[in-house]
Amino acid sequence: MVRTRFAPSPTGYMHIGNLRTALYEYLIAKGNNGQFILRIEDTDQARYVEDAVELIYKTLEITGLKHDEGPDIGGEYGPYVQSERKGIYLDYALELVKAKKAYYCFCTVERLEELHKNSDLGIAKYDRHCMHLSEKEIEENLKNGVPYVIRQAIPEGKSTFNDVVYGEITIDNSELDDQVLIKSDGLPTYNFANVIDDHLMKITHVVRGSEYISSTPKYNLLYEAFGWEIPTYVHLPLIVKKDGSKISKRKGDASFEDLLKMGFLPEAVMNYIALLGWSPGTNQEIFSLKELEEQFDVKGLSKSPSAFDEDKLKWLNSEYIKKLDFDKFYEMVEPFLKAGVKSSGIDFKELAKMAQSRIDTINSAPELFDFIDTLPEYSTELFIHKKMKTDEAVSLSSLIKVLELFEKMDGQWTNDYIYESLIALVNELGLKNGQILWPVRTALSGKPSSPCGASELAELLGREKSIERIQYAIELLQNKLN
Ligand code: GLU
Repeated sequence: MVRTRFAPSPTGYMHIGNLRTALYEYLIAKGNNGQFILRIEDTDQARYVEDAVELIYKTLEITGLKHDEGPDIGGEYGPYVQSERKGIYLDYALELVKAKKAYYCFCTVERLEELHKNSDLGIAKYDRHCMHLSEKEIEENLKNGVPYVIRQAIPEGKSTFNDVVYGEITIDNSELDDQVLIKSDGLPTYNFANVIDDHLMKITHVVRGSEYISSTPKYNLLYEAFGWEIPTYVHLPLIVKKDGSKISKRKGDASFEDLLKMGFLPEAVMNYIALLGWSPGTNQEIFSLKELEEQFDVKGLSKSPSAFDEDKLKWLNSEYIKKLDFDKFYEMVEPFLKAGVKSSGIDFKELAKMAQSRIDTINSAPELFDFIDTLPEYSTELFIHKKMKTDEAVSLSSLIKVLELFEKMDGQWTNDYIYESLIALVNELGLKNGQILWPVRTALSGKPSSPCGASELAELLGREKSIERIQYAIELLQNKLN
């Protein structure tokens, strides 16, 4: 059975690259009727873990990447957490020591620092000083409680492995360091626990970022030392910025949580990241998780870094927003609209209806209506519109008539009534619709485009504000033309 795992280290945020790894792992498992496992790799980061684990957990829940197995936490599967399994790793290391595939190292921190200092690059491979200690010396040290670590004994020769994305990779073992497997506090290093757990959890496919390619030969040497089967490797290319530089949370690039805070929907983000490094081989761009489960194939994975394109994500997000059930959309957008538009008497549901087909992030909805509270400063050139057959002079004479109309209109100030009255005026003056509607729309919004037309704007703003804005436009035009 295909078994994959998502093995995040708890950092306190969900990097887009990590989430993509989780998604692909999930898809590889689901597409093969396999199982997806969640393992928190926290042996190096004991502090700060609780919230960080919570965040990983929440992210997977929001995104629908449900894991299939784990310790029971109140009737559901929790994640496997390495710090809770810390007792199991030492015995495996001791087994390797016995088989001479690993060895005790009693070197002091000072000695190691000295080694590093004296190396050309400031980082030295361990010089294997302790590999050559006699049995007696080792026993003596252990008896006297001299602190030690356990190191992997890297054999001579070359290591080759096959990666689903990158193909065959060979390195000379002389490039590899005798890495520490068990630290002086008896806990495993990240690299060691990772391999032991992948084996114990019967992971068949290891999917992770390409930054792990260089460590993989060391992992494989451990598998070989134990006589265990090596998993299939799927290393994924980096996600970069448009300029090719690395995405980094520290440099302010958005994490998954940041994207949600910016008003992206989790489904849209997941859809987008599915396509960051994978191509379905068709033109389809919108995928539900279910569709991805059916269509995802490792053959579509790319080797080259994929650039994160916020504009593309915005486009996808707008498509997802359009498809939302209106009530659900309203629930999401209402707080933003209410925080952004302060005028009284506003029908926020109406605003939401206009917004749903026009915005690309939930948070940006108020920008559509920023003209309601205060009319923006605008240039009279906005009144010039060739297709509408209108210019500043036509607009001025139209608006003078509209002002008279608005001042004497006594019916209910509704979109329908305003529209009919404006069209009646068009007919009376023998004009084209646009020669009245465009100047009114422009005068009321002060913007080159608005989420609705003249009569809807007038209804939205109310009679008083509409009249004020028409008066203001007339003044502006008169000043310009005289
Ligand atoms: N804990 C590693 C990380 O967060 C995962 C490495 C792996 O998947 O093997 O990057």
